[in-house]
Amino acid sequence: MDTYENEREQMVTHQIASKGVRDERVLAAMRKVPRHRFVPMDARPYAYVDSPVRIGRGQTISQPFIVALMTELLDVQTEHRVLDVGTGSGYQAAILGELAAEVFSIERHPELAETAEEILSELGYENVQVVVGDGTRGYAPAAPFDRIIVAAAAPSVPQALLDQLASAGRLVIPVGPRYSQRLEVWDRQEARFKRSTNIPVVFVPLIGEEGWED
Ligand code: SAM
Repeated sequence: MDTYENEREQMVTHQIASKGVRDERVLAAMRKVPRHRFVPMDARPYAYVDSPVRIGRGQTISQPFIVALMTELLDVQTEHRVLDVGTGSGYQAAILGELAAEVFSIERHPELAETAEEILSELGYENVQVVVGDGTRGYAPAAPFDRIIVAAAAPSVPQALLDQLASAGRLVIPVGPRYSQRLEVWDRQEARFKRSTNIPVVFVPLIGEEGWED
């Protein structure tokens, strides 16, 4: 029980369930994870509003609805090993930590990774590991992954992420030009990939070898 529990309930009811996210496991995780712990102190009053919130280094924690929608699209099962590209605040990693067996979360800014790791460990997410690196190249030491989620916009889907998907794996990623993208869902069956597109979105750029230039 914390003082933000009511705000979380309002967030789930009015920003997430009302916009069509139905997966009860996702809604339960969004009710449970203390989102305010992942934003800087001075931004806490805005932790549960219906928009992204700045977290430093020019980065943001995504809007609650987008986190919920992407998590629902990812269809995470309890036995899954998940790669989360773009740790940022660590909030999405915590949501995944509620749903999956093991989560590897990769962030290119060491300071953000360090802060996220501290909060995740304070909150007891022992199944979440934060690493520093270029997530456009995936995370080979722990591959393959049942699920991969990317929280930054790619000009095209990084081949390394497709390569590191397990068979029957799924990747959710925003793809498109710098200021307007679409969420794409990639399903792998053995060596075949099927792509479907979802809603338009705007994400910060995925910067790296198979992404945008810095
Ligand atoms: N999922 C995060 C959360 O819950 O707070 C929000 C992610 S924020 C919208 C996007 C993050 O992707 C930023 O922290 C940014 O530094 C990171 N990023 C961008 N390019 C990256 C790359 N190639 N590898 C890893 N992280 C990257």
